[in-house]
Amino acid sequence: MTHSAFTEVNDRVAQAGEILGLKPGVIASMQSCEREVVISIPLHRQDDIQVLTGYRVQHSSARGPRKGGIRFHQSVDLDEVRALASLMTWKTALIDVPFGGAKGGVAVDPSTLSLLEKEEVMRRWTRSLVHVLGHQRDIPAPDMGTDSRTMAWLMDEFHRLEGFQPACVTGKPVELFGAPGREEATGRGVAQIAAATLEKSGAKVKGATVAIQGFGNVGRYAALVCQELGMKVIAISDVTGGVFNPKGIDIEAIFMHKTLEGVEVGERIGASDVLEIKCDVLIPAALGGVINEGNASRINADFIIEGANQPLTAMADKELRMNGVTIVPDILANSGGVMGSYFEWTQNIQQFSWPIDKFRRELDTRMEKAFGNVHKVSKKYSVDLRTAAFIVAVDRVSNAFEMRGSLV
Ligand code: NAD
Repeated sequence: MTHSAFTEVNDRVAQAGEILGLKPGVIASMQSCEREVVISIPLHRQDDIQVLTGYRVQHSSARGPRKGGIRFHQSVDLDEVRALASLMTWKTALIDVPFGGAKGGVAVDPSTLSLLEKEEVMRRWTRSLVHVLGHQRDIPAPDMGTDSRTMAWLMDEFHRLEGFQPACVTGKPVELFGAPGREEATGRGVAQIAAATLEKSGAKVKGATVAIQGFGNVGRYAALVCQELGMKVIAISDVTGGVFNPKGIDIEAIFMHKTLEGVEVGERIGASDVLEIKCDVLIPAALGGVINEGNASRINADFIIEGANQPLTAMADKELRMNGVTIVPDILANSGGVMGSYFEWTQNIQQFSWPIDKFRRELDTRMEKAFGNVHKVSKKYSVDLRTAAFIVAVDRVSNAFEMRGSLV
C-alpha cells in the first residue's frame, strides 16, 4: 500500500470522531476538502519555458477564513497539500483561533530558482488563485521554501489586483505590515512546549539535551529559545549536514549563518544522523515522514516535539509510544506559527501595531493554555497527546458545523 499523508490525518479524525460519538456522515464531511485548485505555472528559464504545478487546497471554513502556508519543494503533490490543509483545520481549532484550514504549494526545488524566478513563480501563483484568496476567505503564510520576502511579493501582487489589503497574507516582513515576533513564533512555541513537556513529566528543563533536525525558520528559532530556556542543544542539522557537540552548541553564535555548511562547532555528522543522537528532547523541524519504520527503533530520545508537520509516520508513532517515548503532536507543538499569524492578521485589520513584548506574552500564554487543555483531555480519555489534541479540535469543528446548520 502506498503511504498517504492525507489518509493518516483522516485516520486521526475518524478515531477522535468515534471517541466523541459523532455520526459517520459528520466524520466523513470533516475528512474531505471544500475546494482544491491545481494550476500550471509556465516559467521562463534561460531560453525555454518550464511548466510548474501549483496548488491551493481549502480544507474547511467551518470556524473562519481558511489559513495555511505555501510550500516550495520538489516533493509537493496533491496528497501532501491536502494533508497539510487538513492539519491546519485541526491546528487552528485546537488553539482556538477564528480560522479554518488551507495549504498551498508549488512542486519545485527552490534552490534551483534565481531570486527573480522565485518572485515570478510567487506572482503567477497569486494571479492564478486570487479569486479564492483574501483576508476574509483564505490567508496564506510562509512554509518550507518560502519566507517573509516571498509573502511581500504575494501581497504586492494581490494589491495590484484587488487594492490595499495587507491582511491578505501573514508572515510578511516587519517593514511591510508584518508583526514583530511572527518570524520567531513557530520556533518559540516549539521550545516553550518542549520546556512545558519536560516540566509536566517531572524532568529538569535546565541542562536537558536537545537534538534538532532543520536550521530554517522553525529549527533555528526553536534552538535559540531552547538555549534561552536553559536547555543544551547538542546536535543540529540542515540539508547540508549536521553538527554534534556533547558539551552544547552556542546557537546564538551560529544563528546568522544561512546554512550549517562549513560551520565548525563540533563533530560533522550526516543530515539525518541527528535523529538518532541520544538526547532528552528530539525536535524534527524539517521534513515530513523522517521518523518511520526504517529508523524508529534507533531513536534515542525520551521526548519528541514535532516542529515539522507530520515528521513521524503512523507506524513510527505507535512503535515509539509503545517504547515509552512522549510525543507532542505537530498540531500543538508548531501551532505558535499560526497563532502568530492570527496576531499579525488582527493587527493589519485594526491598522494597529503591537510591541514585540505584548506579542510574546500573548503567544506564551495561549500556547500554555492549549498545552494544558490537551493534557487535561489526555487524562480524561486516557489517551496519548496526539489523540487528545484531535479530540479537542474535532469536537470544536464538528460543533461549528452543527451550529451553522450545515447538517440536518
Ligand atoms: P524552511 O524552509 O525555513 O527550513 C527547512 C529546513 O530544513 C532547512 O534548514 C533545510 O536545510 C532543512 N532540511 C531540508 N531537507 C533536509 C534534510 N533532508 N535533512 C535535514 N534538514 C533538511 O522551513 P520551515 O518554515 O522551518 O518549516 C520546517 C517544517 O516546519 C515544515 O514541515 C513546515 O511545514 C513546518 N512548519 C513551519 C511553520 C512556519 O511558520 N514556518 C509553521 C508550522 C509548521
